[in-house]
Amino acid sequence: MSQRAKAVVARERGKPVVVEQIDIEAPRHGEVTIRLAACGVCHSDLSATNGTIPYPLPLVLGHEGAGVVVAVGDGVGRHAIGDHVVSSFVSMCGRCHYCQTGRPQLCVQSLQALYTLPDGTVRTHDAAGLPLNVFCGCGVMAEFATLHSDNVVKIDKEMPLDRAALIACGVMTGVGAAVNTARVQAGSVCVVFGCGGVGLNAIQGCAIAGAAMIVAVDTSGLKLDLAKKFGATHTFNVTGQENVGKALYKLTGGGADYAFDCVGLGKISEQAWGVLRRGGTAVIVGIAGPLDQISLNAQQVAVSEKTLTGSYYGSARPSQDFPRLIGLYRRGRLKLDELIARTYSIDEAPQAFADLTEGREGRGVIIFDAL
Ligand SMILES: [Zn+2]
Ligand SMILES: [Zn+2]
Repeated sequence: MSQRAKAVVARERGKPVVVEQIDIEAPRHGEVTIRLAACGVCHSDLSATNGTIPYPLPLVLGHEGAGVVVAVGDGVGRHAIGDHVVSSFVSMCGRCHYCQTGRPQLCVQSLQALYTLPDGTVRTHDAAGLPLNVFCGCGVMAEFATLHSDNVVKIDKEMPLDRAALIACGVMTGVGAAVNTARVQAGSVCVVFGCGGVGLNAIQGCAIAGAAMIVAVDTSGLKLDLAKKFGATHTFNVTGQENVGKALYKLTGGGADYAFDCVGLGKISEQAWGVLRRGGTAVIVGIAGPLDQISLNAQQVAVSEKTLTGSYYGSARPSQDFPRLIGLYRRGRLKLDELIARTYSIDEAPQAFADLTEGREGRGVIIFDAL
């Protein structure tokens, strides 16, 4: 039986999102339907509305959701009705080379579920009966969503669902970049470029790992103030700075062990590389535009023994890492409450995107009636 639900849809590139009534089909083999409690509004959702992420429209947005399983298709062993779950925007097929070598963030099946479910079809249709694509196989910025069970992780029922939703993207991506990808060492010096949702979490990932110095870099004083709450020991406002590299080199006392580009711009990745001491590691976390390039001095790459690496989804192993992050939150070591800057009803979604476009600090979260 299909389910009517309000959903946030990107209809036209560069235009505001619209909230509309859609139909959600019942789960097929291997799928579950969840009733959403909360969904974060992420910069990647915005990128899908303006074409930076060129997914075909119309598209149901949302990839940072948490809710309760209300229907289960055939062949689903891992999930049952009533389970509390968090969405994962990578699939975890369990069978491909990457899943079998402990790197499900690179799962091959995810490439088949960029804007549909993994089988290439969707369970979402608009009022006229026309199919609607779903962001990263999720489309959880809706009252209900049918996902493949490989995109869903069960969590403890004690965990508040609005906090749990944040783990699905921003927290996993940022904390994971520091803890999983870079494996930040205790006592190290870290520089984090960009203090949006992901950057704040990269900062708290460095703090969790025991970094001695964490420099937050941004153009917004408000974002830098927030960065201090997440563990930044120093802040650096690049506005009006003529030589950012030189100033940061001085501030860090000879360069950083780890630097993170949480913006996703070739120029900033180069700055992250430039601020490293010899032997350091630069991590590109933000997703740059498709034509953006990085230029490095080849000789310096060899003699400096620096490492440049990407971090996709914080090198997440969602089924292990989501419960692990929830454990850190419970023990007071991971800040989630402080991340939620504003909450919205689903009808207020256009305002949530307007606030994100303006670059307001902290995370906006849509809270559904189910919570
Ligand atoms: Zn996201
Ligand atoms: Zn796989």
